[in-house]
Amino acid sequence: MTPSAAVVAPSVPQPLEPPVPASVALVDRAPRTPAGPAPAEAGPDGAVRRWIPRHVRITRSAAELPHTREIVARCEAAGVQDIEVLRGDQVTGLREGNEREVYARAKSTLAVVVAPPSVRKPQPIPPSADWRIDLARGCPAHCQYCYLAGSLAGPPVTRAYANLDEVLDGIRTHAGRGAVTSGTADRGHEGTTFELSCYTDPLGIEHLTGSLAEAITRVGTGCYGDAPSLRFTTKFDDVAGLTGLPHGGRTRVRFSVNADEVAGRFEGGTARMPQRLHALGRLARAGYPVGLTIAPVMPVPGWQESYGSLLDRVAAELAGVPDVDLTAEIITHRFTPASKDVLLGWYPATRLEMDEDRRRAKRSKFGGVKYVYPADVMADLRGWFSDAVATRLPGARLLYWT
Ligand code: SF4
Repeated sequence: MTPSAAVVAPSVPQPLEPPVPASVALVDRAPRTPAGPAPAEAGPDGAVRRWIPRHVRITRSAAELPHTREIVARCEAAGVQDIEVLRGDQVTGLREGNEREVYARAKSTLAVVVAPPSVRKPQPIPPSADWRIDLARGCPAHCQYCYLAGSLAGPPVTRAYANLDEVLDGIRTHAGRGAVTSGTADRGHEGTTFELSCYTDPLGIEHLTGSLAEAITRVGTGCYGDAPSLRFTTKFDDVAGLTGLPHGGRTRVRFSVNADEVAGRFEGGTARMPQRLHALGRLARAGYPVGLTIAPVMPVPGWQESYGSLLDRVAAELAGVPDVDLTAEIITHRFTPASKDVLLGWYPATRLEMDEDRRRAKRSKFGGVKYVYPADVMADLRGWFSDAVATRLPGARLLYWT
């Protein structure tokens, strides 16, 4: 990982599809909020991490929607020069070249597309939330264990959804209907919960889209009634655009955190850990419910000391924050045959341990298999984390362990 403010974009400058000038095709309607990201504010170690795509590709249907105008304005403000409207609704040209070139081009491209009805339909997402809502699919970072590997087909391009009103309408239609966290003793008070980070890191592209701020504001100001709440996980730190929003305490922002050895080795293109913790503190002080997604936990040498230090740094960051509402979700590392295959294609030199012989195969009710740590290792990790969270972060609620 570099200390640069922008994710390092691999250099594969190739055209994707014959363009239509964006200025010709975009509708001339004012965006609902002032265009452009909030000014970046530095964390303790320098500038926040902002991904600047090399290419922005807008499908013809997306170009007709008002939210696209805001996205284009934000991309221009960020310095993106290659912004093109495509002649059709397919983002083509992504598969040319060898595997390395396909990966590099996809990871440096933001596609602006229309989410079809199948994508907009909220789905249950246990144990995190009653429903999943996707503001985008794909992520510009380069985590060598990426959760999206094997889940999303095709080149790993980031697709932001331009029909934001339709996407967010799933909150209106499904508020009051949840069965994952709704009605439970521990989390029923959250109302109907909607997870925004199932297929993307929404904060990682927020300076280019503004979609997250719009969702937080609508839910926070009661546009969808009192029932819903939002939640998302991030490895980014650019929270300047969120601190002043009327969030109403109805969005929980969880920061994905890890031992320095894991984050430093495997989480390319993300904000560094001190900056994530600083962002956590800023949002807690702005009144947001906050959380830790400690994932993927790995029993690296000295893991007790490394994770203990991490929890202590969280405690120090939140010391003195009045009435902080902190949760923890802990997820151990796992992989599937499909995700391993994709990850080895993306990161052939990775040192990530994905050795089936050192794992326990766990079968789902649908016949799929995932490889988790052996039972004795899981027991050690679970026992240590349960005690450590209770003693080092006594105000935190541990929501789940897996
Ligand atoms: S931040 Fe999450 S979605 Fe993005 S590359 Fe890393 S693991 Fe994948």
